[in-house]
Amino acid sequence: MGYAPATDDAYLSVVSQGPGRKIATSLGLPAPVALRRHDPDTPAVPGPVLVLGAGSGTTTTPGSDPDADALAQHLLTRGFEVHRHGDGLRRVGAVVLCLTGLTELGGLSAPALELGGLLRSLAPGGRVITISRPADGVAAGGAASLPTAADDPAAGTAAGGAPFDVVDRNAARQGVVGFLRSVAQEMRGGATANGILVADGVAATAPSVLGGLDFLLSGRSAFVDGQFLVVGSDAGPEGLATAPQGETPLDQRVVVVTGAARGIGEQIARLLHAQGARVVPVDVPAAGQPLSELANQLGTASLPLDVTAPDAGTRILEHCKTRYGRIDGIVHNAGITRDKMLANMDESRFASVLAVNTEAPLRITRQLLADPAADGLRVVGLASTSGIAGNRGQTNYAASKAGIVGMVAALAPVLAERGGTANAVAPGFIETEMTAKIPMARRQVARRLNSLQQGGLPLDVAEAIAFLLSDAAAGISGQTLRVCGQNLVGA
Ligand code: NAD
Repeated sequence: MGYAPATDDAYLSVVSQGPGRKIATSLGLPAPVALRRHDPDTPAVPGPVLVLGAGSGTTTTPGSDPDADALAQHLLTRGFEVHRHGDGLRRVGAVVLCLTGLTELGGLSAPALELGGLLRSLAPGGRVITISRPADGVAAGGAASLPTAADDPAAGTAAGGAPFDVVDRNAARQGVVGFLRSVAQEMRGGATANGILVADGVAATAPSVLGGLDFLLSGRSAFVDGQFLVVGSDAGPEGLATAPQGETPLDQRVVVVTGAARGIGEQIARLLHAQGARVVPVDVPAAGQPLSELANQLGTASLPLDVTAPDAGTRILEHCKTRYGRIDGIVHNAGITRDKMLANMDESRFASVLAVNTEAPLRITRQLLADPAADGLRVVGLASTSGIAGNRGQTNYAASKAGIVGMVAALAPVLAERGGTANAVAPGFIETEMTAKIPMARRQVARRLNSLQQGGLPLDVAEAIAFLLSDAAAGISGQTLRVCGQNLVGA
């Protein structure tokens, strides 16, 4: 298939192995390694999986932490070699740290130190995954509001009226976020650390917790690092506890991908097709040739269309209804940059970026949702780390991408009523024609500014999008997932 990893990062090729690696390490230079990406013929995790829990103070005793027990059981059922303590283990493929029961930050010490003792045994491309509850008022999505003193008069109250133990618990929950993000920065050998935040009232073994665990353990999340998936509901297929989704989780789904003629959009279209979807590739008429070549390879019909056309959504809907009778998903990937410092910015640069990157996804989604054929619609928008942290010279682009973050957050409850979800993916530095335009020296620096010290591939972004479109992510909505190797710049 044409979605095999490719990069023009010569430095990575030289230092990822052999003498080049030794020289880079001895000089204290960045020493990125080739990341472990999904391969159906190799095990999903590069060694045994260790499940630790905070429980009642001991991190290792089965029975002291029911959520850790349930997660360990799930992983056993799925065929992984599961351990509950690290004694005698010389190589570990992944550590799953279950912290759902954490009520005070001090309770983090024992499991944190136990994890620390294991990190040297973590295999290249290994994983650390925390499972915990979101702090209220800080982490996005799904958290219940703090109870007031009236709910628990015995607990004593803080200034805002919440019981103190709830305040303690909230500090502990947010503590996990800072902890995990720091762990991710200390990982080596292409290993990553990510977390799953499970909303109060949602089981630690809810379908999207298990689906998220599958995604984060696998090579499909190679460039996702230092991030949290927020599971806000129990939605999703029950069978996920026993059977993975296999290689074709998007079987027969009708999914539109805009901006599909090249770059990230092309890889999204190829991967969704490989996962069983009926892909509708869209791009501007000027890109008609590569677009129709792609459509031919995927055995589908392309739709040449400028997404800023006032009737773009209606035309997409008609195309999908005529061919397939419905639409199941749309990936708003088409995007442009028109960088200038704000002092030099002109009206057309600012307006055109907003028009393509934000106004078109808003208008198209609105037009799609006017029709019952879009019931159950899965929407994925392309945001950017620039839209989260800001970026010099990109006021227009950052505004447009932050707009996508806001769009999916507000769309989530609207779509939930119709069985759908809306999420965004925020890529960091990805090796595409867009980033190839960055001058050489800046490009070399930009690639190294993340915990994995390399640019991601379009495939990495496509993998995250495919996951968000799948049933395994039915309980995840309104979220923005960064695919940035834990980009160290900004917020
Ligand atoms: P690209 O420039 O290589 O491809 C963008 C595609 O969108 C092109 O095929 C283009 O023809 C199409 N397009 C542009 N305007 C259109 C319109 N009006 N109607 C229909 N199609 C249109 O870009 P890319 O690097 O593949 O980026 C894809 C998406 O990912 C964009 O939304 C971009 O902002 C986002 N992104 C990219 C990076 C990165 O590092 N490359 C980082 C963050 C976010």
